[in-house]
Amino acid sequence: MDGYKALIGLEMHCEISETNTKVFSGAENSYKETPNTNIRPLDMGFPGTLPVVNKRAVEMALKASMILNCTQPEYMYFERKNYYYPDMPKNYQITQETKPIPVGIYGSLTYEFKGAKKTVRINNIHLEEDAASLDHYSTFSTVDYNRAGVPLLELVTEPDLHSADEAVAFLETMRSIYQYAGISEANSQKGQIRCDVNVSIMDENLDESNPNNWGTKVEIKNVNSFSGVRDAINYEIERQVEAKQNGTYDDMAQQTRRWDEDTFTTKFMRSKVDAIDYRYFVEPNIPKYRISEEWKKKIKESIPKLANERKEIYMKEYGLSEYDSKVLVKDKDISDYYEEVIKLGGEPKGAANWLTSVILGYLNKNELSIKELYLTPTMLVDLMTMVKDGKISSKQSKEVLNKVLEEKKEPKKIVKSLGVTQISDDKTIRDIVVKVLDEHPDLIIEHRKGRNTFDFFVGQVMKATKGQANPSLTADIIREEIDRR
Ligand code: ADP
Ligand code: MG
Repeated sequence: MDGYKALIGLEMHCEISETNTKVFSGAENSYKETPNTNIRPLDMGFPGTLPVVNKRAVEMALKASMILNCTQPEYMYFERKNYYYPDMPKNYQITQETKPIPVGIYGSLTYEFKGAKKTVRINNIHLEEDAASLDHYSTFSTVDYNRAGVPLLELVTEPDLHSADEAVAFLETMRSIYQYAGISEANSQKGQIRCDVNVSIMDENLDESNPNNWGTKVEIKNVNSFSGVRDAINYEIERQVEAKQNGTYDDMAQQTRRWDEDTFTTKFMRSKVDAIDYRYFVEPNIPKYRISEEWKKKIKESIPKLANERKEIYMKEYGLSEYDSKVLVKDKDISDYYEEVIKLGGEPKGAANWLTSVILGYLNKNELSIKELYLTPTMLVDLMTMVKDGKISSKQSKEVLNKVLEEKKEPKKIVKSLGVTQISDDKTIRDIVVKVLDEHPDLIIEHRKGRNTFDFFVGQVMKATKGQANPSLTADIIREEIDRR
């Protein structure tokens, strides 16, 4: 990078989707297609309404704080961030700034990047309410208050990331944590994840641990996809390197820009000189309350195994490769499906094979999630059991699976209707083998002379049984019968 290195800090917003209601009102916490149909008076900032803190939302925020190795506060506070905008009818957002302490402060997260472990320091994580969503048209804008008051977690990292790919790897790890911990679906398509991205560059020979050596940061607001984060960072690094090269970097003011998805560029919004003073103060309508040690302990114990721990188990206990283990834990629903199959008695390696080599390909091709898959874990175990018991061959099982998915009928029914049950009965196969051998005495002689006629015999038996003879048993019997002659 021409002698420079990039410093990147992220502010990641993630909606908590797993509470029943919004963070301070009794409106449902669920996405509603029709605008402005999921609102309570509080969400509209009507006079006389008072916020009631959602305990589950606080629990989930504390859970995230613990997973990120942050320090939790002794007391829970909220603050008002005052501003005037149509997305916030109260004219303030209830949030947490760093003074007093938010739900988590000064932690760290280790994530994997290109096979190596990297650590990012977390400045803080805080709980706040989401704003309404605005849509802008050529001559007017619309506002939908359904989203107003949805619980939102904002995570702020230190500028410890150095490339767009590192930033995305970090975000993917966080998404997985939110999903595995049961905090959020963390679905970008549903707008549940939004990021502000801070980028600066510095001389690569200078000491990064001294903030005096850092460049002036540029903040890019509201990037709402991981690919947007990647593109915005790459664009911004290039723009800043160019400014260094043409001597304008040092004159560049600290500024806020936005990512423009149409032109693939960042656009100037405002400089730090115009920075808004939000006049934070402690929210007077929510009394501070103590977070007891017992409560914290309970929350800590409720943290389930996360993707990394599951991956270790798959490798150590089930003997899967690191690659397959990674593929299985990448999506929590897939990992849950896999574990259900094992719980129902499916053999771990075989089950992993089915998933990685057949089922995931099918889901991908048809753009389905595993939750939409007709084949349940029970059905997969049935299918695997039929192969294990020699009822069908493994080749036949693939055909059966295709039919199961095509016709949406259980594997047992498909096997019955196709009549594909494998013949594993010794006598039935032996009778056919004897007949085939009787018909081709010349080929037995050729076989003894060393010519390969064995496959021909197997083929004849398969033909006679419409492919249903158990192949390894057939081979054994042919060998025995030839030896006997
Ligand atoms: P502000 O006061 O403007 O909100 P903060 O110090 O709170 O700035 O930092 C906000 C975000 O910007 C954090 O994610 C932080 O890591 C990041 N950041 C701060 N300085 C830099 C820098 N020089 N380069 C890149 N990112 C930075
Ligand atoms: Mg800040």
